[in-house]
Amino acid sequence: MTANLRVDGVTKDFGDVRAVEDVNFTVEEGKFLTLLGPSGCGKTTTLRMIAGFETPTEGRIVLGDRDLTGVEPYDRPTSMVFQNYALFPHKTVGENVGFGLKMRDVPKEERRDRVGRMLELVELPDTEDRGVDELSGGQQQRIALARALITEPEVLLLDEPLGALDLKLRKNMQVELKNLQEDLGITFIYVTHDQEEALTMSDEIVVLNEGRIEQRGTPTAIYEQPETRFVADFIGDTNLLDGTYARNGEGATVRCGTVELPIEPIPSAADGDAVSVSIRPEKIHLGDGGDPDAVTLTGEVEEVIYQGNIAKVHVNVDGTRLVLERQIVDSIDLPTPGSSATINWSEEYTDVLTG
Ligand code: ATP
Repeated sequence: MTANLRVDGVTKDFGDVRAVEDVNFTVEEGKFLTLLGPSGCGKTTTLRMIAGFETPTEGRIVLGDRDLTGVEPYDRPTSMVFQNYALFPHKTVGENVGFGLKMRDVPKEERRDRVGRMLELVELPDTEDRGVDELSGGQQQRIALARALITEPEVLLLDEPLGALDLKLRKNMQVELKNLQEDLGITFIYVTHDQEEALTMSDEIVVLNEGRIEQRGTPTAIYEQPETRFVADFIGDTNLLDGTYARNGEGATVRCGTVELPIEPIPSAADGDAVSVSIRPEKIHLGDGGDPDAVTLTGEVEEVIYQGNIAKVHVNVDGTRLVLERQIVDSIDLPTPGSSATINWSEEYTDVLTG
């Protein structure tokens, strides 16, 4: 039986504040879904409604064919991992990990076995008798994970669980968490404001802004075909240009200041409509590229920002500024500010934004 989790028309008001508005999405069983957005966009509130810590003002949370509305958090097949770990500081590792089983009156012997297995799973075997305050931040996060997983939830809810770790550990843990999720095959719903983390780990991303869904899709779709200005701007770096739409025979163009870019016709748009486009810096190359279908422009190099393995090159095309990203093999390949540069990109990478 597949038990997909459905967030169905959920709205949450706190007094006058609408934290979440008409949010709809389904997570397929065994998938890794991330709720991504800036601070205050309603990620945590959505997660807490799935956990049962908050009640939706409108809408329902449904797992398989079970409506979870009104079910107490402890009776839901969900478990939550918090950013601050929320471990009991004066209890041992074993007591912390086994807590959920004790609450469910699982006999001591079985508890000990299952705690041991969980600690092996999170690669901290034989730490049962240690105090949690003797452990590092990364180790405490593994204990929090073991504690959440021991009750065998169908859905694991994770609220910025790596937020307190330093960058290197965080990156290692991202890969470990993703591997663990794939091995266990349980559904993960993960909250973060870190777009790189979301792109690395997720099967699917739901981008939230001011309580509403901006876009949902795979990491590739979210990054390569952002649908709105907000998504294009929030996920990665991009060139955002505002322009005016015009039909042009079989095709169409957007005039953005001094440059005119060919695009696929938009059936719903009329001549003169305002349209924005996004072009990712790594899609733009130096040189004319030799492709007759590519967009080719000439301008002046304004700035070159060296970042080790890549450089950001800012080019001014008659007043329209574009930034491109260039892999550095040898820094001698970089253009110099003030020089003239031809740039090109494949027309398909001019992404038209609809919102
Ligand atoms: P962060 O990344 O900062 O945790 P978030 O995206 O998780 O942000 P939420 O914590 O869900 O956002 O908050 C969404 C909105 O709801 C915010 O405006 C917040 O101030 C408000 N809010 C959240 N919880 C409450 C509450 N218990 N009472 C009143 N307002 C709340």
